[in-house]
Amino acid sequence: MSKFDANFLKKDFPIFDNNKDLVYLDSAATTQKPKQMIKAIVDFYEKYNSNVHRSIHELGESSTCFYEQAREKIAKFFNAEPEEIIFTKGTTESINFVADAWAKKNVLKGDSIVTTQVEHHANFLPWMRIAKRNEAKLKYLEIDTNNYSVKDPDNSFWDSGVKLVAVSGNSNVLGDIWQKGQLEKIIDKASSIGAKVLLDASQLAPCKKIDVKKLKVDFMALSAHKMLGPTGIGVLYIKKSLHNKVEPYQVGGSMVQAASFHDVVWKNSPYKFEAGTPPIAQAIGFGAAIDYLNNINFDDFSDHTTNLCNILLDGLQKISGIKIWGNVDKIRKDGHLVCFSLKDVHAHDISGFLGNENISVRSGHHCAQPLATVLRINSSVRVSFYLYNTPKDVQIFLEKLDKTIKFFRN
Ligand code: PMP
Repeated sequence: MSKFDANFLKKDFPIFDNNKDLVYLDSAATTQKPKQMIKAIVDFYEKYNSNVHRSIHELGESSTCFYEQAREKIAKFFNAEPEEIIFTKGTTESINFVADAWAKKNVLKGDSIVTTQVEHHANFLPWMRIAKRNEAKLKYLEIDTNNYSVKDPDNSFWDSGVKLVAVSGNSNVLGDIWQKGQLEKIIDKASSIGAKVLLDASQLAPCKKIDVKKLKVDFMALSAHKMLGPTGIGVLYIKKSLHNKVEPYQVGGSMVQAASFHDVVWKNSPYKFEAGTPPIAQAIGFGAAIDYLNNINFDDFSDHTTNLCNILLDGLQKISGIKIWGNVDKIRKDGHLVCFSLKDVHAHDISGFLGNENISVRSGHHCAQPLATVLRINSSVRVSFYLYNTPKDVQIFLEKLDKTIKFFRN
């Protein structure tokens, strides 16, 4: 049993007061929000709403100060420097940012981008587009469908044409897809051949503490809304040594040191990369979410979600005809989500039926259609946990799933 008190934490989430019977098992899509985070956003609008980095009146100074404090908190959380933290709309924008502002000029004809077969469309389509536009290649690290882990490729895979390795820390369908130490080895390999590494941390950062310096990534993308923060904001981490090699993604106000009719000098990072009025309230909200997460012991949190996964798997594995997508042994040791399907009941029927019982789970291809073709499924049900979920949630889910299956099988 874990030491984690999810029932206590749950009281911080007003959605569960407003919807008493809600069983929310869709946190990999977006997490619920604690009142502390909501209050930070309300306070901003009610007490010091103003634009940032412009006006020197008191409100302007306050909002700039809170906005930059949020950046500092986020930087500290990931062991980065504040100027390495760029605010974006979220993971999708962060990855498109790197594709457009770095890869367009650095991944050229005949070069290649390495990714995996499990990627979310957000960490695959921007690379496919760049590869097509620049006549570069897209190479995939394959997934072993026996153990749902990334296969080690031959040495010849890592030729000098590889310019970028863009991979997920955690899959939104399979959970952990890396063999022990494999991600670190791939990062070392990439660096030894001069390739840059982008980590899609949108599913990893909410559950595991990431130290960008230890992990040695060049770019990292994540979304605040998957880790208690608001929608509309995420982070692109760009390693300091690359700041001069990355172009501004957008140009406009706020990011200019000096401009004439013919020329322009950008400010330094992060401002060079944040054109226009940024998502101020959202950044402050994300900072408050980070404050909340700073009070969480991530080892206990991990034990907690793993415990929930074990209760869930014990129940699921009793159901005839069920197929679990993902490495069950790994999920039982350290998991936070489980995907499954039944041959005779469609995933959308299951999630729709459960939705009527006030249980939120996700069904579909989870924006990873290429992976679905590798696994030969078109749809699965995903149950994902966060720090407010309790064993009772899992029990209710299993009871209602049983009812759902009986309904469709009769
Ligand atoms: N990558 C992964 C692994 C994801 O799970 C998601 C969100 N489902 C994304 C990228 C895209 O995140 P967002 O929609 O917040 O940009």
